[in-house]
Amino acid sequence: MNLSCLKSGYAEGRYILPPLPYGEGALEPLICAETLYLHHDKHHAAYVAGANAALDSLQLISDGALSPSQAPALTQSLAFNLGGHILHMLYWENLMSGAGEPLPATAAALAESFGSYHAFMKIFASVALGVQGSGWAVLGVEPVSRRLMVTGICRHQDVLVPGFCPILVCDVWEHAYYLTWSNDRKGYVNAFMQHINWGVVENRLNCIYRNEY
Ligand code: FE
Repeated sequence: MNLSCLKSGYAEGRYILPPLPYGEGALEPLICAETLYLHHDKHHAAYVAGANAALDSLQLISDGALSPSQAPALTQSLAFNLGGHILHMLYWENLMSGAGEPLPATAAALAESFGSYHAFMKIFASVALGVQGSGWAVLGVEPVSRRLMVTGICRHQDVLVPGFCPILVCDVWEHAYYLTWSNDRKGYVNAFMQHINWGVVENRLNCIYRNEY
């Protein structure tokens, strides 16, 4: 696995919605089947449609059929919707039904950047709980030091460090957990932390180290 989950989100000049990598009931009780269906088939699909619509309108500007004054709003719409498309593809893939622990490269990077795996877990969960409103908790490689960094992203694209490469993402929009966990975001986040596909995270990190990301 390297970029396969992102490559499957684009074909013939259009963003497309890849199928889930597992069945809709596969993540219960972390995420109920109805949540998974609505989240993937409705919410993620809407971001794909929104990204394509923004691209179409930007093409109209290039063609001279739409005023360039529309460009600021359209580029913001593209960033929001494409950000949602990318983050959701990463999210589906970095979840699994079983439990696990970080593999060697990830474990070493977590220890170097946060002191220990357990310290990272506390920081990541705290950031996920602290995101105000709709957003994401993200573990990624920052491009200057190439060390790991945890950050909270508002919506899909706000407060994002340029060049930051995500390797683990947790959706904390209410649509990700409300049907399963009601208002208990803490319960959802704690359960998420126990269902991380560390093999996927390890492959993403190694791709970055090999400059393949
Ligand atoms: Fe979502």
